[in-house]
Amino acid sequence: MTAPHTGGCRCGAVRFEATAEPHHISYCHCGDCRRASGAPVSAFVGFMADEIALNGKSLKSYRNGPVERSFCGICGTPVAYTDKRLDGHIYFTLGAMDMPAYFRPTVHAHVREQLPFLHMPDALPRELKTSVPRPDGQGHSLSCGPGA
Ligand SMILES: [Zn+2]
Ligand SMILES: [Zn+2]
Repeated sequence: MTAPHTGGCRCGAVRFEATAEPHHISYCHCGDCRRASGAPVSAFVGFMADEIALNGKSLKSYRNGPVERSFCGICGTPVAYTDKRLDGHIYFTLGAMDMPAYFRPTVHAHVREQLPFLHMPDALPRELKTSVPRPDGQGHSLSCGPGA
């Protein structure tokens, strides 16, 4: 499968499209993503912001420091993650992609916060913190993201 890649929320009010291949696909085990998603582990598909189109009047967002998470204000589906320190990048939630099976993660991030009963026996690299270095060298869970 090649670009464009499409996705959207559960109710269909939010839709997005990427015209290029993702530059990053990761799991995130941080507590911030866990709260935001309600799931024991999250996964993100990263694109460059100028390669995507995101539409939907119902789109809402929640900002926490440099991190902003977008979601559908109608159905609540988590849609995207951005970080001011990662200018020009946008990370869609893997589960919001129309063809999620295409986006195989290549790394686990924030495994220090991974739940003890969650076992994912793959051979992927595991990062104690973020898999996407920030300029300030930080990447703790409050400012986590995709690889987060
Ligand atoms: Zn929706
Ligand atoms: Zn995270």
